[in-house]
Parts: sequence; structure tokens; C-alpha cells
Amino acid sequence: VSNSRQDFLHKLSRNLVNESQVIVVENLNVKGLIPNRKLSKSISDAGWGMFVNFLDYKLQRRGGKLIEIDRFFPSSKTCSCCGHIVDELPLDIRQWDCPACKNHHDRDENASKNITAEAIRILSMGGGNPVLAELRRRKTNKPQGGKAVVNETGSPHLLRQSKCG
Ligand SMILES: [Zn+2]
Repeated sequence: VSNSRQDFLHKLSRNLVNESQVIVVENLNVKGLIPNRKLSKSISDAGWGMFVNFLDYKLQRRGGKLIEIDRFFPSSKTCSCCGHIVDELPLDIRQWDCPACKNHHDRDENASKNITAEAIRILSMGGGNPVLAELRRRKTNKPQGGKAVVNETGSPHLLRQSKCG
């Protein structure tokens, strides 16, 4: 199982790196802070930390860049149209309407827009996220512990890339 998983992650990361210069991931705290045990277990079972490491070194070899978004960045709960942040968005809610601007969101699509915008903001501030990347490199392949990391995200001034309805 371990070998075939590793093989799969190598192929997947290779394909992604072949078609991208910059890859943005959320810095998931696999073990600790995700309150949903089942979810955190399936994420760590899937080898997320290993996958991110593969992406990182493959990108580096090609002069690309891995950007890690801080795990406290509210990627799901922020409206990618107006920046409004909802208080709660339980995992079973896959679609929602922004109470402020009334736009309708697919949960994952909205989160990925916010992550992209945050990555562009980080890149425009000098690029990359060396602190997070370094922290992770030191813990090669291990899931992140419960320690807080430098939070350079969380700015409400997201770049709005798309005009919503
Ligand atoms: Zn909105």
C-alpha cells in the first residue's frame, strides 16, 4: 500500500509540476487542529505531507515555486466576490450564498479562488512563503504538529480577481 501510494503521489506531483511554475497549497495541520478526526485521519492517510514535499522538491529543481497558505486563512468561509467572512460553514455544506453580496458559491471553487488570490498577494510581497516552506522541510514527510506558524496571511485585503454577479 505504501509503495503504490508513493508511486501515485510521485506521478501526480510530476504531472502537476510539469504544467505549473507555481503551485499553491493550504498548509494543513493534519494531526492537530482539524477538529474532525475522521477527516484529519483520511488526509494524513492519503499522504498529504509527502505529496507536498514531492511538489516542493520537483518545483525547486525546475525553478518553480511552492506557496503554502497559512492554515488559519479562512479560504472556505470568505466570499471570493466581496470578502465577507461567514461565521460558520460546516463541512457538509457544499454550496452557499453570501449574505452580504448574495452571490452563490460552490464551496471548493470559492476556496480555490481565495487561495489563488492570497497566493498572488504573497507573491507580490516578495514571493514564496519561505518560513512555512522551511518549517515543513525540516519536518520532512511528517505531518505538522500543533505548533503555530508565522501567520503572514489573514489580511482582509484580498485581491479580487473575478467580478461576481
Ligand atoms: Zn459576498
